[in-house]
Amino acid sequence: MLVSLVPIPFQIIALTQERNSLFEYPQERLAGIFRELGFRCTGCSRCCTREFNGHVFPLDNDVTKVKKIDPEALEPAPNPEFCDQKGVFYVSGYSLRAKDDAQGSCWFLENGSCRIYNNRFSICRIYPYMLHREPDERGNVDWRQISGLNEHGEYHEAMPPEESTSLARQVKEYENAILTQEISFLEFLQEYFSKHHLRHIQKVYDDRMRQFSKGETITVMVYYAGQLEEHRLKKLS
Ligand code: SF4
Repeated sequence: MLVSLVPIPFQIIALTQERNSLFEYPQERLAGIFRELGFRCTGCSRCCTREFNGHVFPLDNDVTKVKKIDPEALEPAPNPEFCDQKGVFYVSGYSLRAKDDAQGSCWFLENGSCRIYNNRFSICRIYPYMLHREPDERGNVDWRQISGLNEHGEYHEAMPPEESTSLARQVKEYENAILTQEISFLEFLQEYFSKHHLRHIQKVYDDRMRQFSKGETITVMVYYAGQLEEHRLKKLS
């Protein structure tokens, strides 16, 4: 999640514009790019580790699934977006917990395989495909359609058109869902802050983060299913 100094209404506008440009991106063009890449998973399972891939952010409906399968697998997403004047943090969702091994394997990864493969989450089903606007090394913002290019899997394999079309549809649906979730969080928080006379204070954010890194407990409110869920966190030493 991204800490931002931009006021909430402007963040909502920017995300809505991003979602509009996602709608406008032709599904068939995306499917054509996927066919051209011809990615094939070789089952190396590296993408299920933090060493390779950072955090995994499940959508709200996936979080509902995890809560039934193994609630221990969830933790508040890192880098909360806001902190109020009382030192309480707010973050837009959960991430999957990693095991305490050298690679930071996903909680559900066992002997190189996903132990809930048939129930795996939306992001796990579409990965490594994506549709994001990101700056390149020169700062030019453009669409990016695959993650970890040439760092895993095999390429230039034949992909049937119906597979690429289905993938393109799923990627657009996922990207839309994640943006919609983020917008919903910001709209909720705007109202919540106004109702409870709260505001984001960057200095309080930085101070509390410093205290957290020294072992103090912090409160993080996680947005899920239109509400905030409270967590008390202490850094593991
Ligand atoms: S849930 Fe399964 S597929 Fe998804 S990251 Fe974890 S191990 Fe990998």
